Parts: sequence; structure tokens; C-alpha cells
Amino acid sequence: MKKGIINSENICYINHNGVEYIQFKNLKKYDNAITHCFTTRKGGVSSGECESLNLGFSRKDSRDNVMENFKRVAKAISVDCRNMVFANQVHDNKIKEVGEGDRGKGITEESDIIGYDGLVTNQREVALVTFYADCVPVFFYDPEKNVIAVSHSGWRGTVKKISAQTVNKMQNAYGCRAENIEAAIGPSIGRCCFEVGEEVYREFVDKMGWSDKFCKKTGTSKWHIDLQEIIKKTLTECGVREENICMCNICTRCNRDVFFSHRGDHGKTGSMAAIIQLR
Ligand SMILES: [Zn+2]
Repeated sequence: MKKGIINSENICYINHNGVEYIQFKNLKKYDNAITHCFTTRKGGVSSGECESLNLGFSRKDSRDNVMENFKRVAKAISVDCRNMVFANQVHDNKIKEVGEGDRGKGITEESDIIGYDGLVTNQREVALVTFYADCVPVFFYDPEKNVIAVSHSGWRGTVKKISAQTVNKMQNAYGCRAENIEAAIGPSIGRCCFEVGEEVYREFVDKMGWSDKFCKKTGTSKWHIDLQEIIKKTLTECGVREENICMCNICTRCNRDVFFSHRGDHGKTGSMAAIIQLR
């Protein structure tokens, strides 16, 4: 995978007053309707292992630092922190419909949204927020129905097809059609660095036989798995058009200078966020 993050045909790398983040070109086309970003580790006030744009309240960081970091990101993408809604993320595949009444949950008040790895809404000024440090962020937008979603797809969520669950939820709850959905698969640990044992490989091929072609054996009992490609295939299988899926092809571990990486930093790291909101 690519080393060194630059603007490409798929992504824009933006520095807004020092806050650095990524936007996806297929979503950026709809800048008048949505705002979105995937943050990096650059542009915040945190120090040590959370240096500097840590957005995780449960990391080794002060609440004040994290709030200041959120304010900076919010300003950069024109979102109000009070409109943010967090998912608490448990490596499952459940998607929560949220609305105006959920604004602030996780940031200005304690959240009762427990056990969800994805959020979806059709309401304006409700900013959906999920967290990452190697797992795969997946963004969704249906310009026809004006519905947004974001889901956290670690390897467990990927095996449980959380991306397909997100599309299902958009269809069932809001009448979206898969062929209208734009999706973006963000920076995560790449196949180059996601090494797992036989038992994880087995989970994939037992539950999704076709995923074998995205797994590569690298030792007697070690495998490298391409989560981003498996998610892409999961999306096309449920009707999302290939040309509507933006792949960033960026490995967080290979680019530890730009991204927090759980594996790259041996667990001592901060959190990045995927944020999307209808304007
Ligand atoms: Zn890598």
C-alpha cells in the first residue's frame, strides 16, 4: 500500500489551520449537502502516545485535551460539537438509527447508545462519529434520500458484514436503494500489516468462502488479510455499484507518522474519528 499521504484521484488531504484530515472525492462532490472527514493524528494539543489529535476519551489523555481537539476538528469541517453522536463500538454489526434527540450523546452528555458499531440518520445537523486506530471506517451517503451512515468495521465486524447491515438499514429504515449509495472505505491497517493466525483466517473462509482470494499465507500458520477489499466485495454483493465505492488504499500502520495505529504503536496510541453530517 501507499506510503506518504498525498492527494490522489480518490482522496483530498486537507490541512485546515493545522488540523489535517482526509476527505473522499466521491463524497466531496456533495459538499453542498454533507460534510465529512477522517481525522489524522496531526493538529491537536495532546502529547505523549496521544500526540496530537487524539479524539478518544478513553485513551491516556485528559478530557480537556480531547475536547479541544474536537473543537478544532469541528471548526475545520463546520460542525458543532453539540450536534455530535458517538457509537460506543463493540466489534459487532448493529446499526443505530439516530436523530435530533440524540445530539450530544457521548460528548456533552452520557450516551445510552450502547452496543452499536454503526450510526445512520436522515436528519440534518446530526453529526455521526465513530472511532479508529487500525479498524476500517466505512462512510455512506444516499443523495436520493439524503441519508448518511458510518460504520466501524474491524475484522470481527467485517466477518459479520457490518457494511451490508448498514446498507440494509438504509434500505429498510429510509427507503434507500443500494445502487444510489456512495460509499468510501477509509484508512485502516492494510494487508501488508494485518497479520493474523489460522483461527482468524478460518473465521473468514468459513463465513465468506470468497474471501480466500483476499487472504495470503505468509508463514506456516500466519495469514495476511485485506479487510478493505473484503468490505468492497461485501458492498458490491449487496448492490452498491463498484464505481460508487471510493477506496483510499492507505495503511495506517505503514503511515504511523500520519495516523494512530494500534498495532504500529503497540497499543499505546490515540483515536481518530470518522465524522459525517447532513448540512
Ligand atoms: Zn501496512
